[in-house]
Amino acid sequence: MVVSYLTQLHDQLDADERRERDLLTELADRGFRISVPCRVCGQALVDPRSVARHIGPHCARRSGDAK
Ligand SMILES: [Zn+2]
Repeated sequence: MVVSYLTQLHDQLDADERRERDLLTELADRGFRISVPCRVCGQALVDPRSVARHIGPHCARRSGDAK
């Protein structure tokens, strides 16, 4: 039961991440420049990888979040 719940949760997260990535890709294709505030320091992030993680490379290194 617990395993199936966790698997379902994992699938939902993956779907959400895919949706966000597709959305960001489409907007970028249309010439939009996306930025989100870093969840650690609040600095605007424009690098696609940083945007996807909502954390800047500097803060990602400092917090050890290498995901
Ligand atoms: Zn930051």
